[in-house]
Amino acid sequence: MPVDRAMWQVIGQSRAIELLRRSLESERLSHAYLFVGQPHVGKTTLAINLAQALNCEQETKPCGQCRSCLRIAAGNHPDVQSIGRMANAEPGQASTKKEISIAQIKEVQRSAGLQPYEGKHRVFIIDGAEYLNEESANCLLKTLEEPPPRVLFILLTVNDARLLSTIVSRCQRVELFPLPAEVIEQALMEQWQVAPEKARVLSRLCRGSIGWAVSASRDESLVLERSQRLDELLSLNNASLDQRFAFAGKLATQFGKSRDSVEEVLDLWLGWWRDVILAREGCAQFITNLDREAALRMSAQCYSMAGIRDFMEAIRETVVQLGQNANPRLALEVLMLNLPRGERAGV
Ligand SMILES: [Zn+2]
Repeated sequence: MPVDRAMWQVIGQSRAIELLRRSLESERLSHAYLFVGQPHVGKTTLAINLAQALNCEQETKPCGQCRSCLRIAAGNHPDVQSIGRMANAEPGQASTKKEISIAQIKEVQRSAGLQPYEGKHRVFIIDGAEYLNEESANCLLKTLEEPPPRVLFILLTVNDARLLSTIVSRCQRVELFPLPAEVIEQALMEQWQVAPEKARVLSRLCRGSIGWAVSASRDESLVLERSQRLDELLSLNNASLDQRFAFAGKLATQFGKSRDSVEEVLDLWLGWWRDVILAREGCAQFITNLDREAALRMSAQCYSMAGIRDFMEAIRETVVQLGQNANPRLALEVLMLNLPRGERAGV
């Protein structure tokens, strides 16, 4: 079937789109895909486009305009279902997240056995596949091992290392990469009519996640929240050990509710120190925190390169440990002990 590249609404990700486009045209689609990529990079949009391409009523697919395409985009096509707490979540709404239950997967199995109601394919989008618990993952595995005809599973995840390897091996893996800032800047101006200066700042702040930039262009509170979180992290540079440990305790509690939000905090911190290095090395054009150039330049003068590098390494190590189910409080307290020392007072 003819599949037109220009019809896909995902920004960038040409490798992923080309792979899917070719499989669709040669009618050699896999039964299950695993889309892997950082939050808000375009996984859901790509999954919706693929579901549209499979069920589109027009010659050149996905047209985005026919009844079927419109209903899939609106989330009310009977043959396309989204499962998982994150389904269609906007940035900022991801504060609490729970496991995908066995009941949800059993329901998927039941409907996967039925004929498509009106479309040509049944499509199940499982968002946040890392939240499948062992029981639900094993249940899903049975279906992936013996997939019913004309059924497609699309699993979305930020981290496939957190999935059962047996699930990963049953899916075709498609990686989505962070988008270059220039691509996001241009898309924000042309497709979302964002003013040039705002587009420039947001395209850097989002660090490759266009979905975040689009949401932030409409909702000022996202930028404000990000800024407040960064202020809190930077205040730790001058804080006492008690204050740092108190912060570690707060993050550990937060981790119990939403591990993603803690990873986001650590990622924000990592991004800050990366920017300090860039400012130090005279590569200001690559800075992410464009709204804080003055503070970055000041920090660049006050911390040694070795100190910054060690701390960035400590942050990465903490992320790995948290992923391996280390005691979060302990891991975060150790991180607090590793904060780099400023070489000049008052920083
Ligand atoms: Zn269509």
